[in-house]
Amino acid sequence: MIDQELLNILACPACRGDVELRDGKIFCRECGRKYPIKDGIPVMLVDEAER
Ligand SMILES: [Zn+2]
Repeated sequence: MIDQELLNILACPACRGDVELRDGKIFCRECGRKYPIKDGIPVMLVDEAER
């Protein structure tokens, strides 16, 4: 499970925006990209993001 402390550390690699957990993915509030979580680890790669 992704905890709030980790979310506070993470930032969107595309725009450096704040992220939050949404629908089991890391969602960027600034640009709307969604990053997958694989094996409990957020994959913060622009190439892996969904728009
Ligand atoms: Zn972003």
